Amino acid sequence: MDQGASRRGARRETREGAIEDRTLAVGIVGCGEQMSDNLLPNITRLDGVRTACLCDIELDRAERLAKTCGTDRTYEDLRAMVEKEDLDIVVAASSPQVHEAVARVCLERDVNVFLEKPPARDRRTLERLIDLEHESEAIVGTGLNFRHSERVRTLRELSRNTFESEPQYLRVDFSTDKPAETLWELDSHLRSLLLATGIHALDIADLFFGRPTDVVATAARRGNIYQIVILHLAYGKGRLCTIELSSIAPRFDLSIDLTSENNRCVRLSQLRTIDVQGTNPAFDCSNLSEKRWQSGWEPSPIGDGGASGYYAELSSFVTAVRTGAEPDPTLSDVRHYYDTIERVIEILEGGPDETVPECGSVVESVDHPR
Ligand code: NAD
Repeated sequence: MDQGASRRGARRETREGAIEDRTLAVGIVGCGEQMSDNLLPNITRLDGVRTACLCDIELDRAERLAKTCGTDRTYEDLRAMVEKEDLDIVVAASSPQVHEAVARVCLERDVNVFLEKPPARDRRTLERLIDLEHESEAIVGTGLNFRHSERVRTLRELSRNTFESEPQYLRVDFSTDKPAETLWELDSHLRSLLLATGIHALDIADLFFGRPTDVVATAARRGNIYQIVILHLAYGKGRLCTIELSSIAPRFDLSIDLTSENNRCVRLSQLRTIDVQGTNPAFDCSNLSEKRWQSGWEPSPIGDGGASGYYAELSSFVTAVRTGAEPDPTLSDVRHYYDTIERVIEILEGGPDETVPECGSVVESVDHPR
């Protein structure tokens, strides 16, 4: 029996819930900054997983990284790698065009695939990938790491414990100094910004409030460069979320505020400290106004304490592959982020993006869009 067929058999069993104890073979696509700095170091920390081979169109990058994970199997062509190697999982960090191509090649062969964000360049392409996933035995994970961050999870937990009523208002600030120009050969800086950083903020909004019912957008721009984009998202039960995206901040910042109807607020500042405002501490101080109280939490100054969520997202994906559980998030979960992205482009650029390809035109091989 060929290796692919035996692996498909094993995977079918797995998707029905059986746990496979054997070590899972991972193939890497895209050996640039994100893979070498953030993903691969966390992949090597995962139990029951080995990095079997690496691929980059710039072969020396694959060869350099291969040395750090004890393999000499490197490729320039992702299709050749997936066809030749017996892989359980492919992890890709490149352009959205390459992510689409990797997903297509892997899903055709029932190989599970974890795509860094953004999984696709537009809503139509994402839809096509969702269809391909449904036809495959394999699953697709998306690298939206902040939903797996310990600190974002703690904030969520705290809001549940602190609020006596539903959270009503969410504010997400996502600031970086990027993108300074259009990315990945896209025509639009706005699409580049929304796919590069906006998608993280939309993912956090989804984590707390789910799918929005309406979106309004405003922006400050210099020529074609979007410096600040502000989104107002409306949800059922009158809940609101404001997302502020900046591409001109001096440094990275992710801050999240969540406010309830009963004047309580939980706040994560700079993906670091967490404050709870408006609750009285346990000891007796009834002479002091409750609303002036604030309790805070600060991480240890040593170690990242799971702030980025990279290890947790990869570990959660491997568990999904082993147990047949759904990845978190699924590609279908991400669909409404793309609805919002397309809508924001329509609002701010005065009409739908004409460059979005027709359904079915998912790329199969790509050059090197940067
Ligand atoms: P990069 O340009 O440094 O790396 C991309 C790599 O892909 C390059 O080495 C390039 O040679 C390779 N490549 C291009 N075409 C290829 C092909 N057809 N086959 C194989 N390899 C190919 O980019 P990066 O900064 O590492 O970003 C990669 C991805 O990671 C992007 O999608 C980006 O959005 C994402 N990212 C995510 C986060 C996060 O917080 N989750 C942070 C940074 C970057």
